[in-house]
Amino acid sequence: MTWIELAWTVMASASLTLAGIHLFAWFRNRSQRAHLWFFALAASVPLFSVFEIFAIEAKTPAEYAFASKWAQVPLFLIITAFVAFVRTYLDAGRAWLAGGVLVTRAATLVLNFTTGVSVLHEEITELSHAVLWGAAVSAPVGVLNPWFIVPQISNVLLLVFVVDAAITLWRRGGETARRHAMLVGGSLVLCVGIAMVMGLAITTGVLRAPTPLTACFFLVVVAMGYELSRDLFQAAQLARELRESERRTELAARAAELAFWSWDPTRDDVWMSGKGRELFDLDPTVPIDRAALLERIHADDRDALREAWEGALRERGAFEKEFRVVLRKGGVVWIAVRGQAEAAQAGDRSLLRGVVLDITTRRRLEHEVEEQRNELAHLSRVATLGELSGSLAHEINQPLMGILSNAQAAQRFMASEPPNLDEVREILVDIVEDDKRAGEVIRRLRVLLKKGEVQHGLVDPGDVVGDVLRVTRNDLLNRDILLAPELAHDLLPVFGDRIQLQQVLLNLVMNACDAMTGVDRREIRIVARAVEGLAVEFAVCDTGVGVPPADIERIFEPFVSTKEHGMGLGLSVCRTIVAAHGGRIQAENNAGGGATFRLTLPLAPTDAK
Ligand code: ADP
Repeated sequence: MTWIELAWTVMASASLTLAGIHLFAWFRNRSQRAHLWFFALAASVPLFSVFEIFAIEAKTPAEYAFASKWAQVPLFLIITAFVAFVRTYLDAGRAWLAGGVLVTRAATLVLNFTTGVSVLHEEITELSHAVLWGAAVSAPVGVLNPWFIVPQISNVLLLVFVVDAAITLWRRGGETARRHAMLVGGSLVLCVGIAMVMGLAITTGVLRAPTPLTACFFLVVVAMGYELSRDLFQAAQLARELRESERRTELAARAAELAFWSWDPTRDDVWMSGKGRELFDLDPTVPIDRAALLERIHADDRDALREAWEGALRERGAFEKEFRVVLRKGGVVWIAVRGQAEAAQAGDRSLLRGVVLDITTRRRLEHEVEEQRNELAHLSRVATLGELSGSLAHEINQPLMGILSNAQAAQRFMASEPPNLDEVREILVDIVEDDKRAGEVIRRLRVLLKKGEVQHGLVDPGDVVGDVLRVTRNDLLNRDILLAPELAHDLLPVFGDRIQLQQVLLNLVMNACDAMTGVDRREIRIVARAVEGLAVEFAVCDTGVGVPPADIERIFEPFVSTKEHGMGLGLSVCRTIVAAHGGRIQAENNAGGGATFRLTLPLAPTDAK
């Protein structure tokens, strides 16, 4: 075996092996056409090498002509596959140039079989034999085919096509594009350049050497194979990383007790992880559609969920909801769902995907805390009213005394002869008035003392202040305290529970009263004003002793009190109530003495009822 045969065989087998690998890669993933084109290219190279060796070692002009004629077939395949590869894999190269290359190559093939002994020679008269490093090399001597120009044009077009593609890739920037430009573009320009120059020199008899095309094509195959294999390797690595990240996600999901789901609206197909099916009380294997899923959900929650779900799909956004699933064996499970609409990979079809979480325990605890808070609030209300009881008794006593003396007077007027009925009539009117007053006081007390569920609605800030003023009026008078409300005119309603808000203000006013026990100037200002059209601020400002600076951070904590019989619960309840209303409460000492408690509540949303 000569060195040329050895080298050509090695290159042919290596090409064939690479071709096999990428054919397999294409089978595994048919959408990646680049593998197919690479296969076509790499598999044509051995075929070409056979004809080339045959030509190099030809004994007669006929043998040479035969080999060089048939070599045009794999050459056509190689160039076609190559152009397709550059267009599909590198996404570069102008279409018209590619078309030009293919048309001229096809023409070459036709001319090859219809004119001369091949497209290169009109006839080959003899072979010149030379010995190159111990291997015999034949070269043709004869008349050139005038159509010889067509493959040359095709080669020039190919060269321009490759250079243009390499420039495009280089300009595209980025590490990969530039490497492609260098490796694939560079190797091709080199190969096509060498092949063209040497081919021309050998065909015209200037050079006596073996045609180097197999070696050139092999160079191209190696360069492109290297890039494609890199991709394969990266894909494998990505797949490994993906598996790893899937495992991690699964672990995290299990630790957080999350379940995954997705819904394909076009096929109405719901997928859910095992844990999800468990939560929704669904059999592990039955196929699920949206109706089947909604059926498991509590009738009161169904519409809200459906709306959130459809909204997310329409706006390609996210949604979050909490709802109940009714179990088949009875009872309910509270579930929180989070979802996101996303475009599915193929085409523009949208998909909803998300997680669900069992929040039954959280919900139960929240309910318990709510109940305890109501309980505490009630206790604190009772305590506050206890403090007020003296003056409240006085307030009820007054109309009762009025009624009594009026009734006695009426008795007297009735006893006189003749009975003075006009006077009695007037007295009766007074009695009715007094009775109404007493009834009003009792009604207000009953409302405040009522232990009931919190009822949220629109609350006028002015009404809250008014309520508190009415309940405290007598107490303030007795304690010789001046109370001046300053209400802005433009106050919009807040959304909340009127009684609870009354209680907060009442607490602040009572605390202010307590703080002014030993001072001479006793004044309270209640200011209600709008803050930037977003919130209402109530400020209760007194002229008392002020909060001890060391305690100012702590007074909102439970059981912090500086009073002898204080429970230290008032402010803590206030803070809880205010927080539940989405607001804030703060305390500060005034520069001129006394303290100011500020309470900010967000305005009711415009659609609140
Ligand atoms: P209590 O009134 O039972 O002490 P609170 O939680 O209502 O419980 O108040 C906690 C503490 O905050 C009070 O003991 C007092 O020291 C301080 N404090 C509250 N309001 C004022 C105020 N207007 N001026 C000065 N100190 C106040």
